[in-house]
Amino acid sequence: MDAKIQAIRGMSDLLPAATADWSRIEGALRAVLSGYGYREIRVPLLERTELFSRSIGEVTDIVEKEMYTFDDRNGQSITLRPEATAGIVRAAIENGMLRSQRHKLWCAGPMFRYEKPQKGRYRQFHQLDIEALGYPGPDIDAELIVMIARMWRMLGVRDMVLQVNSLGTPQARMRYRDDLVAYFRLRHDELDEDSRRRLERNPMRILDSKNPEMRAVVAGAPTIADYLDDASAAHFAALRALLDQCAVPYEVNLRLVRGLDYYNRTVFEWVTDRLGSQGAVCAGGRYDGLVEQLGGTPTPAIGCAIGMERLVELYRLAGGAAAAHAPDVYVVAVGDAAMAAAMRLSEKLRDELPRLALELNCGGGGFRAQMRRADASGAAAVVILGEEEVATGSAGVKPLRTGGEQTVVPFCDLASALMPYLASNNDSA
Ligand code: ATP
Ligand code: MG
Repeated sequence: MDAKIQAIRGMSDLLPAATADWSRIEGALRAVLSGYGYREIRVPLLERTELFSRSIGEVTDIVEKEMYTFDDRNGQSITLRPEATAGIVRAAIENGMLRSQRHKLWCAGPMFRYEKPQKGRYRQFHQLDIEALGYPGPDIDAELIVMIARMWRMLGVRDMVLQVNSLGTPQARMRYRDDLVAYFRLRHDELDEDSRRRLERNPMRILDSKNPEMRAVVAGAPTIADYLDDASAAHFAALRALLDQCAVPYEVNLRLVRGLDYYNRTVFEWVTDRLGSQGAVCAGGRYDGLVEQLGGTPTPAIGCAIGMERLVELYRLAGGAAAAHAPDVYVVAVGDAAMAAAMRLSEKLRDELPRLALELNCGGGGFRAQMRRADASGAAAVVILGEEEVATGSAGVKPLRTGGEQTVVPFCDLASALMPYLASNNDSA
């Protein structure tokens, strides 16, 4: 027998058992994106190598050692995309999309990086990339973050911390960089090998060091906050105020600098400790200079990318897969008159709350049998209709997972009474 051919290391197959979760998550994310006016763009998997070296930066992990780069049959150097922002910006410039226009875009698909494969880190992985081109912020910065927080809620994923920081202008960053190099040079003895290498090439990355022995020397380093210009500081303060307004919790992490060269002002990252050492689930920032750097008219922009493998894993840990099959509410109707009313009412509720997953008891049965089915369905709440309820134009509503009391709700108020149970059944897991 011939030897079996194996998949390339770090590139996994997504088998049918896994794709169901993926589609469900992708569907939920798409619904949120369109609700905020983001539209899909699809760009090639292959681009000229130069696009990435010029945008991401020559001295970054990606460009230095992670790209799949090769010459095509014509001798042109091409690269499998390691991220989507550069390709989207190229496409926007090339297709004349930026002439005093604004675009909210998203792009989903595989990215390729030659990394050391491990849990949560692969050579082919998937991102949902979200970009807002032509918006100076800070309003769009806040809206983007608030939208992503909504995505996490929709999926029932928790235990993530949002970290935000501001990098100021490229000039401020340069001054900061110089001072940082001076600081670390004085403490050269305390640096590990990795950081010594970064000191010459990309000193801000030392702040990202995951080595615990580096903690003290990193903690004493100057922070970018002291270098911000007034306009960037005001931008950052306004962003934080908007996040406070929307009750989205965050931490300011002055050491958050991000690995790519093109960021300025706002940077952010969602991290979790539930995934082991690969804990960043979504990362991004503002890149006001990139469009110009790639030959377009100066256009402010912000974007971010969600790591789909890590998000899917978090979703599974949160019990999302089991809960996704459960309805939000189960409607129990005892007797013919109640069943007729329940069917009419269920249709009305589906009109009023299009996202409500409602299961109406079909096939009859006594009250106790129907309540057993309601419980077994995994629904977060049960709506109860009997002869008496029909007569008074009201229904019983009882939470099934939180042990709350049953309440009596007039038909006309049912939709708002059921709102708290919308896709909230994950919370009971
Ligand atoms: P890290 O520090 O983990 O290498 P990064 O800064 O290189 O992350 P980005 O380029 O900002 O990551 O990509 C955004 C998100 O894409 C990350 O937060 C992560 O969730 C995901 N991601 C990045 N690289 C990989 C990979 N090799 N495998 C799986 N997911 C990845
Ligand atoms: Mg990386």
